[in-house]
Amino acid sequence: MSTPWGYRPRNNREEPQWDLHPQTHAVRAGLARSGFGETSEALYLNSGFTYSNAEEAFSSFADETDHFLYSRFHNPTIAMFEQRLAAIEGAEFCVATGSGMSAMFASLACLVEQGDHVVASAAMFSSCHVVITEFLPKWGVTFELVKGNDPAAWAKALSKPTKAVFIETPSNPLMEIVDIQLVSDLAHKVGATVIVDNVMASPVLQKPLQLGADVVMYSATKHIDGQGRVLAGAILGSAQYIQEKLMPFTRHTGPSLSPFNAWVLVKSLETMQMRVERMVENAQAIAEFLESRKEIKSVRFPGLKSHPEHALAMKQMNGGGGTTVGIEFVGDQSEVFAFMNRLKIIDISNNLGDSKSLITHPASSTHRRLTPEVQAEMGITPSVLRLSVGLEHSSDLIKDLTQALN
Ligand SMILES: *Cc1c(COP(=O)(O)O)cnc(C)c1O
Repeated sequence: MSTPWGYRPRNNREEPQWDLHPQTHAVRAGLARSGFGETSEALYLNSGFTYSNAEEAFSSFADETDHFLYSRFHNPTIAMFEQRLAAIEGAEFCVATGSGMSAMFASLACLVEQGDHVVASAAMFSSCHVVITEFLPKWGVTFELVKGNDPAAWAKALSKPTKAVFIETPSNPLMEIVDIQLVSDLAHKVGATVIVDNVMASPVLQKPLQLGADVVMYSATKHIDGQGRVLAGAILGSAQYIQEKLMPFTRHTGPSLSPFNAWVLVKSLETMQMRVERMVENAQAIAEFLESRKEIKSVRFPGLKSHPEHALAMKQMNGGGGTTVGIEFVGDQSEVFAFMNRLKIIDISNNLGDSKSLITHPASSTHRRLTPEVQAEMGITPSVLRLSVGLEHSSDLIKDLTQALN
C-alpha cells in the first residue's frame, strides 16, 4: 500500500502475493520501520521535517509526494494508522482527524456549497444532527431528514437533486438499521455522494464501501481505540474523493490527529477484531437476558429476532448484532436513575465501544442538545438507556444487571 505522498516501508522484503485477511492487515499494514528496525511502530512526535538542502525543500514542496512536510498534512505515525485502517476497510485512502466530529464535518463540508441539498437519516448522533440542521443551513445548504428504515421515504427524498446523503446505521442509541445498498443505489441515481457514519458497527461488523457507499467516517474514539484513551476520527474513500475533495479541505482547515494518538490507535487496531467479536457475543447474551425481564418494555438490539430489521442487520453487519443495546424501561426516569445507581460494575458514562461496559441516559446526556420533539422522533424518552457492552465476562455483567433490576 502506498500513500498519496509515497511513503514506503524501509524493509527489503517483498510483499505477500496473495490477498491478506483484515486481521493480518490490522497487525501489519502501514508498518514503516525506521533504520533502527524497531519491532513495534515508532512514534514520530514532531510537527515539522527538515530538508538536506534548499533544492530538496524546493522539490518537496513542488511535488508533495516524496517527503513529509508538516504534521498538519501528514506524519509517519499518522500515516501508519491511516494505511492500516484503509487496508482493513478495503478503502483506497484514509485521512485521520482529531475527533469523530471533525471527520464528520470535514466529510460533508468538503463536498457542499451554497444551494446544495443534503439528505440524512433522522436518527443520528446529536452533534451530527447539529451540523446538518444548524450549521450547514447557515451556509446555504438545505437538508431533509428521512426515517432511516423506510425505503419509500428514501425514494421520495432522493427523487430531488441531492449533493450528499449521510446515514448512521445502526443508529445511536436505538439501533435503527438503514439499508446501505438500497439508499446508495437511490442516491447515485441523483448524483449524490453517500457518506456512512460507521461508528456503531465498527470496521469489524460492516463494510459500507462494499455495500455501495462512497465514503465511511469513524469516531475512532469508540471501538477503534476501544479503551477510553484518545479522541480521534477517520474518513475513508476513493483516491478521487480523498485527494480532490477532502485533502484540500482538511490540509487548510487543520482537523489533524496528534501523532501520539495515532500511535495509540495503531496498536488498538491490532486487537480490534478480537475485542469487537467478544463484545458482540456479550451484547447478544445481555440483550437476550434483558428481553426476558418484566421491568423492560423493549430491547433494541439488531441481533434479536424481535428487532424490526433483524434480517437486514444480519446480512449487512456480517452476522453480528452490534455492541450496544438500547433499553426502554417500563418505569419512569426516577426508576431508571435508581437502576443506574444500583449498578456495581457497569459505569455511568457517555462513551461507547469501550472495553468497560458503560450505561448512558441519552435524553439527559448525549442527546440532551436535541429538542424533546426531535428526541421523540428518534424514540428517545426519559425511560430509555443505552448500554455499551464491554469486555468483562458476560456472567458478571448479567449478575450486575440482575441485582440492579431486582
Ligand atoms: C461518538 C460519535 C461521533 C462523534 O465522535 P467524537 O470522536 O466524539 O467526536 C459521531 N457519530 C457517532 C455515531 C458517535 O457515536
